[in-house]
Amino acid sequence: QKSEWAKLVNEKTVTADGHEVELGANIGTPKDLKGALENGAEAVGLYRTEFLYMGRDQMPTEDEQFEAYKAVLEGMEGKPVVVRTLDIGGDKELPYLNLPKEMNPFLGYRAIRLCLDQKDIFRTQLRALLRASSHGNLKIMFPMIATLNEFREAKGMLEEEKTNLLAEGVTIAEKIEVGIMVEIPSTAVLADQFAKEVDFFSIGTNDMIQYTMAASRMNEQVSYLYQPYNPSILRLVKMVIDAAHAEGKWAGMCGEMAGDETAIPLLVGLGLDEFSMSATSILRARSLMKKLKKSEMEELAAKALSMGTVEEVVEAVNSVVKL
Ligand code: PEP
Ligand code: MG
Repeated sequence: QKSEWAKLVNEKTVTADGHEVELGANIGTPKDLKGALENGAEAVGLYRTEFLYMGRDQMPTEDEQFEAYKAVLEGMEGKPVVVRTLDIGGDKELPYLNLPKEMNPFLGYRAIRLCLDQKDIFRTQLRALLRASSHGNLKIMFPMIATLNEFREAKGMLEEEKTNLLAEGVTIAEKIEVGIMVEIPSTAVLADQFAKEVDFFSIGTNDMIQYTMAASRMNEQVSYLYQPYNPSILRLVKMVIDAAHAEGKWAGMCGEMAGDETAIPLLVGLGLDEFSMSATSILRARSLMKKLKKSEMEELAAKALSMGTVEEVVEAVNSVVKL
């Protein structure tokens, strides 16, 4: 099987009936690029920038960040790179930020909430990203967006820094797509409104499942509730994809679910455009997708959406897709 997969490294990802999707890699540092390319990544669908800030005792400078972003953009040779702005807090701590201990860190001061509050940290990152943008195909993504106003404020700050840099004579890419992670149910439910203003969505199922099911992704005792194939999750995913398409935008997914072999047939059927996963899952996913017919997966997904339990959904997938 491994040798069969290896042949797919330089291939596009096309279903048996000719529908093309994009398979990207999730990375945490520029060092992960090699593995992504060796495993046939067509894009970086999620660059988790928080690792730049972790394991040290002070903020990375604008120049340090610029070098890392530039390395990733150049390394991908013009292929899309979705860089997620700082998603700290929750389970990820930064000792030098002195964040207060919280009862519910996953519901608290993290990600875009922290960035919109500590604006210097955010502006530094935005400037580094904009300066790097002329070195490749950069797309910027904001994490943990819960309201349209958060998106507008973050995008406004990006525009301000762009104006500042242009006045300083810095070259900036002409077109930089700006999108959001959809990982909070409020945003999935309101996706039609967001879709008018964002350039793309990337569904973060790792968080979206825990927030929808009210089951911590860190707690083994409630892990039975952590159900990617629950029809409620599938319906949210469908809302996001349909909302994007209605506005001519694209919808991706960068949570673990995007690389899951039971989920992939459903996601192809729902019309997901981009799948971003750990590099080592890409070739297996591509091999599976080449065997699927989009038209059949659409029927499967439609059935799954009207089911009541995970068990029914899994059985339906298994009866159509022989892994
Ligand atoms: C997610 O929530 O699905 C996601 C990709 O982000 P993280 O796992 O970094 O929270
Ligand atoms: Mg997340």
